[in-house]
Amino acid sequence: MSQLPPMSRRAFLQGAALAGAMSALTFRPLMATAGSTPASATGGAGQAPLFPQAPLMPQPFALLPAGSIKPGGWLLRQLQIQAGGLGGHLDEFWPIVGPDSGWSGGTGESWEDGPYFLDGLVPLAWQLDSPKLKAKAMRFINWTLDHPWDNGMFGPRSNDDWWPRMVMLKVLTQYHELADDPRVMPLMTRYFHYQLQAMPARPLRDWGRMRWQDELVSVLWLYQRTRDPKLLELAQLLRQQGYDWQGAFAHFRFTQKVDADALRKQAGGADAFMEDLGLQVHGVNNAQALKASPVWSIVSGSAGDRDAVHRQLQMLDTYHGLPNGMFSADEHLAGRSPSQGTELCTVVETMYSLELALAITGDTALGDRLERIAFNALPAALTDDMWAHQYNQQPNQVECSLHRQPWTSDGPESNLFGLEPNFRCCTANFHQGWPKFTNSLWMATADGGLAAMSYAPCTVHTMVRDVPVVVEQASDYPFRQTVSITIRPQRALAFPLRLRVPAWSQDTRIAVNGKTIKAAAGFTTIERTWAPGDVIEVVFDAAVKTERGYNDALSFTRGALVYALPIKENWVVWRKRGPTNDWQVYPGSRWNLGIEPDVAVAVSEHPIGEKPFAGTTPAVQLALQGRYVPAWKAEEGNAEPVPAKAEPSADEAAQTITLVPYAGAKLRITAFPSLG
Ligand SMILES: [Zn+2]
Repeated sequence: MSQLPPMSRRAFLQGAALAGAMSALTFRPLMATAGSTPASATGGAGQAPLFPQAPLMPQPFALLPAGSIKPGGWLLRQLQIQAGGLGGHLDEFWPIVGPDSGWSGGTGESWEDGPYFLDGLVPLAWQLDSPKLKAKAMRFINWTLDHPWDNGMFGPRSNDDWWPRMVMLKVLTQYHELADDPRVMPLMTRYFHYQLQAMPARPLRDWGRMRWQDELVSVLWLYQRTRDPKLLELAQLLRQQGYDWQGAFAHFRFTQKVDADALRKQAGGADAFMEDLGLQVHGVNNAQALKASPVWSIVSGSAGDRDAVHRQLQMLDTYHGLPNGMFSADEHLAGRSPSQGTELCTVVETMYSLELALAITGDTALGDRLERIAFNALPAALTDDMWAHQYNQQPNQVECSLHRQPWTSDGPESNLFGLEPNFRCCTANFHQGWPKFTNSLWMATADGGLAAMSYAPCTVHTMVRDVPVVVEQASDYPFRQTVSITIRPQRALAFPLRLRVPAWSQDTRIAVNGKTIKAAAGFTTIERTWAPGDVIEVVFDAAVKTERGYNDALSFTRGALVYALPIKENWVVWRKRGPTNDWQVYPGSRWNLGIEPDVAVAVSEHPIGEKPFAGTTPAVQLALQGRYVPAWKAEEGNAEPVPAKAEPSADEAAQTITLVPYAGAKLRITAFPSLG
């Protein structure tokens, strides 16, 4: 703790937890019933998706019920790696989600970590159909469902904070879709009724006030199943008490790297800063906020609300955008320098927001963004075996050490790979990334069809127009550019099938049973009567693209993958952490290269490794010429911001360098000074 700056997030959280404990309500536990374990192995497969009905605003796409999509190919291996790493073992040695968790009846951690862990563990367990992982999840879920408070509240008695319950509601909605457990909807109904009468006197505060939209998702989920009018009252109350993200981004004023000291002064002290101003510029809050306007538009019926997400992304990109598809926030908004960091929680929460926003807006650009984050920023922040993660990742990351780093407010451990570097939230929260991405690959369309929203190997089991349909998608995308989709309706069935065509694919080729059809920008819609065994072949056109960023720096992409120069990595154990370690990583090769803007790039493809994103087996490489820029250096283990005017070395000739997919290079340069 002594390493952390004053008024760190941890200190704030301790204060918040104390306040919660002091105001905890009295309670009388209900008689516990023996927890049941769900029998369903297939989850939501075969259930029809639900679309908002009047008075709610229609939306063009809806997520399929959890469990409808099973991972295949490299994606299955990735989820198995997650289960074989921290994802399937964290509770065995990390007390925060261990047997003493307040979310399973103990006296230990009782705030956000248990629900965070479950938000990923529940879909992972069912996607892998793992009895062991399901049993781990049921320890928490049974306790939560069997121990509501008398007044309708649920969860640990040691605090009454609305925020951690917002996360647990996300868990319960997924779990209900997977297991059809009759305890879920009554508990949610009682809780929401309680909240409706309690919130006027005990309004949303701090994290809950900033993240009200995440609860709104669960409120609408229940409303679509019960049509309980009180839920729409609660929706209005959440919006009324919650922070106005749309208004804030309409007049966005945080256009620079946050100066935390200055903002603290402006706010009138550290407490006031963390109560409001600090939360507005907080990375995870901004990530979760990307769903606020689209989700609210379902209640308000306003197209302006729905489309406000574009303004939000535009502001974040313009002032804080990074080449990995994320915005910088370490832990507050940090400007466009690729030496700034992004927290892993911010990565997975941005992904979840984009998955929902994509369904509600139908804007394929959000799918492009989602893939860029999922295939680059997400795996980059974890070791290839998923036993350790970073709190902050940097696009230009030349060392991961305890040296002073350029963070706005985070501590010196932030870019180490470890069990809980800097703060423990990401340790509990990263698990939702891959499973929820898997669950959003295909969606239902409002006109009674199906849509491929993102691409990765998977199998879909769903209902289309009351007929069971299986979709098998075979692909090594994003490492390769072909996707093969086999449609297996139970009987011949007419329905529209939409394929998202990424904006980077200029010349997409699509064929149905060998017959070419015209590809359109955005979505390509195929209307036909599908017979069992019909095959769609898609070949995307992934040219190497050069992008300009901070100080005109050059970054290279090909399709959905971002490429980076790998720096030789020397991994040093800093301390043992049970079955894993905290690591520092030191550079063993030079990295200060500049590149000519019109450089020629040669692409080579290689076998995809068992660990799909591992740097030792890059599936694709880009070869190009670079020249050393002697004046560009590291300071305290951190690459100086990319220079605007880079002078190449007069003594050294240009040389061929090889770039690999971003996630495989744990030390890397992603944004290069432009030579000319
Ligand atoms: Zn975090």
